[in-house]
Amino acid sequence: MAGIEVTSLHKRYPDGTVAVEHVDLSIGDGELFVMLGPSGCGKTTTLRAMAGLEQQTSGDIRIGSRLVNDLPPAERDIAMVFQFYALYPHLRTRDNLAFPLRAEGLPEKEVSERVAEASRMMRLDQLLDRRPQRLSGGEQQRVALARALVRRPQAFLMDEPLTNLDAELRADMRTEIKHLQAELGTTMVYVTHDQVEAMSLGHRIAILNKGRVEQVGTPLEVYDRPASLFCAAFIGSPPMNLIDVEVSDGMMRGPGGLALTPPSGLPRDRRLVAGVRPEALEVTAAGVEGSVPARVISAEVLGDEIIYVLDSGGERNVRVRMPPTVRFAAEAPVGLRHAGGTPPVYDVNTEELVA
Ligand code: ATP
Repeated sequence: MAGIEVTSLHKRYPDGTVAVEHVDLSIGDGELFVMLGPSGCGKTTTLRAMAGLEQQTSGDIRIGSRLVNDLPPAERDIAMVFQFYALYPHLRTRDNLAFPLRAEGLPEKEVSERVAEASRMMRLDQLLDRRPQRLSGGEQQRVALARALVRRPQAFLMDEPLTNLDAELRADMRTEIKHLQAELGTTMVYVTHDQVEAMSLGHRIAILNKGRVEQVGTPLEVYDRPASLFCAAFIGSPPMNLIDVEVSDGMMRGPGGLALTPPSGLPRDRRLVAGVRPEALEVTAAGVEGSVPARVISAEVLGDEIIYVLDSGGERNVRVRMPPTVRFAAEAPVGLRHAGGTPPVYDVNTEELVA
C-alpha cells in the first residue's frame, strides 16, 4: 500500500489546451480520495498522469516513496478501472480475471487462488464461465473491479466507474466499492462529476475547477465551509443560497433586513456574500418574530421534504428546505427566517472565503 503525492502537476496538450495547472495533492496511505469537478476541469487528465497513461508537461508524481514520472503504467503497481469496462469479449469471466496475472507470468496455482479470492469478494462465483455479452452492465462492472483486485496493487485509480449503470445499481455498487476499499485498506483515487457520489464515498474530496484545485477537505468540511464561490455553488442540491449581505454594528443583514449571524473577523469595505444552506433557513407564517416578509414562488414536494423557492426583499430565488408537514401555497405571503448557525462569507470580487 502507498500514498500518492502529486506536486505542481501541469499538463498542456499538444493543441495548446492547458488541462491541469500546477495541481498539488497529497493522498494518504489507505485513503479513499475523490476528485470531483465539472466536465473538463482536468480530473481525468490528473488521474491518467498518475497512472502513467498521460505524460505530464511538468511536475512530479510519487506512489509510495517512488518517483514514478518516467515509469510506464505497468511498472507503477496501480490498477485502473474505467467507465467502460474494457473486458475481453471472447474470454470467460475467469479468464478475464486471470489475464493480468498470466501476463505477469504468475504460476497457475497462484492465478487460480487469486481469481477465486477476487470472485468471492465481488460475488462472481456463479458467473465465472460466462462471456461478457451474457453479463448485465452491473455484472460486467463487478468483473472489471475484480480484475483490478486480483493484481493486489498499491493503489486503485477509478475513472467514473459507475457512470453507465442505472441509479439503483449505482448506489449499490457505491456501497460495495466503499466496503471493498475499507476491507482491503488500499489507497483509492476515485474520479467523478457527481457530488452525491463524492460525498458518500470520499474520506476526503478535492474539488477541481478549470485545471486547479479549489478545495480539499472531508465531505463535511466542503459542505459546511466551501472554500470559494465555485465550491459553494457546486456542492449541495439544491445549492447554497448566495445572499448579498451588509455588515454594520456587529450585525449581518441580507435582503429585506434578514438577520444572519456574522462570523468573526469579517473584512470591511468589501462586497460580501453569505452562503446559506437551504436547511439553515425557515419559512414561517407572515409576520412571525424574527422573520422578514417573503412570497412563495414555488414548492417542490419531494416526499420527505419540500423545497420552497421564495422571493424576499428583491432576492428572487431563495431556496428553503422544510419538512413535508409544513405547507404553504404558491403566491402565499410568508416569513423568511434564519434557522441558526454561522454561514461562511465570501468576497464577491475575489470569490474566496473570507470568514
Ligand atoms: P470529463 O468529466 O468530461 O471527462 P475531466 O474533468 O475529466 O472532464 P479532462 O478530460 O481531464 O477533464 O480534460 C481537461 C481539459 O483538457 C478539457 O478542456 C479537455 O477538452 C482537454 N483535453 C483532454 N484531453 C485532451 C487531448 N487529448 N487533447 C487536447 N485537449 C484535451
